[in-house]
Amino acid sequence: MQRKKQHKPLFEGNKLPVNRFKVVFNSTFFEIPEFYVDKPFKCKLCSKKEVWTAKQQKWWYEEVKGDLETTAVICRECRDKKKAQKDLLISNKI
Ligand SMILES: [Zn+2]
Repeated sequence: MQRKKQHKPLFEGNKLPVNRFKVVFNSTFFEIPEFYVDKPFKCKLCSKKEVWTAKQQKWWYEEVKGDLETTAVICRECRDKKKAQKDLLISNKI
């Protein structure tokens, strides 16, 4: 048996650099942060505690072009439920 030594920092992957050229920035009230960091939050629908990861934030702000002032307030489970409801509504209309 071989034992590999792992040098794994505890917070690896939980911090991502912000691409200033990709984010939509239209607020004069605060500065663009240098890094995205994992952000714990409480779901406003079911009160479950969840973490909005740095990766999800990067995707939201840079790919979806979400406003920098928006932040996750609904857990993944509730979002999926909402989405399912919406899909249902759309299919009902057709
Ligand atoms: Zn929830």
